[in-house]
Amino acid sequence: MKQIKVNGLVVNIEKKQIKNMYLKVFPPNGELFITAPKRMSEARILEFILSKVDWIEKQQTKIKKQYSAQKTLEYVKGEKIPLWGKMYTLDLIPFTSPIRMSDLRIEKDKERILLPVTEDSDREQRKKSMDLWYRKQMETMVPDMLKEWENRIGVESSSWVIRDMKTRWGTCNVVSRKICLNLQLAKRPRECLEYVIVHELVHLLESSHNQVFKDYMTQFLPDWKERKAFLNRVVY
Ligand SMILES: [Zn+2]
Repeated sequence: MKQIKVNGLVVNIEKKQIKNMYLKVFPPNGELFITAPKRMSEARILEFILSKVDWIEKQQTKIKKQYSAQKTLEYVKGEKIPLWGKMYTLDLIPFTSPIRMSDLRIEKDKERILLPVTEDSDREQRKKSMDLWYRKQMETMVPDMLKEWENRIGVESSSWVIRDMKTRWGTCNVVSRKICLNLQLAKRPRECLEYVIVHELVHLLESSHNQVFKDYMTQFLPDWKERKAFLNRVVY
């Protein structure tokens, strides 16, 4: 693998015994990979990259936007903040004295989320407060939904936890029967959380993602494919 720089783009080039040149942009950072025929000159490869610059930049922007969605929230006044797929306007309630996490009370009305902040609070502190609140929203939503689906599917989990995971929406340990749900699900429609819960519970019937697993999914949640696609496509 060789690496070259063109127009500020870093391109990884691999030469193989093939006829055509292939260009791919990979998440999460929009890294560029070119697979080129063995005999092709570097000049020809450069020319190819330059002819694709617009397309490359478009792809990179798209990928970065998708993958950095969790980090883009700044928690400033007027910002749009998601909860269960609905966008609320963030309003900051100024406090002069320090706010203890245990005393933190974030309120919500039809349009706004009211976040108490001290004057010197930075993004990290606000994010911490909001994540704690998202956790509480999940804790309110999950138990009934989980119980309902355990009954419908005829399985029982041993326990469940919420974790702020980067790459997975949920996990299920089929041995300990413990389910883990991604904190970020609180930002998406409830249908997405429901899909993840059903998915993890179905693993108690079938541990791998084979056809048996898919058939169970279709039996219990006929529109699971749409929910899955939505979950992975739509960014909040
Ligand atoms: Zn799975």
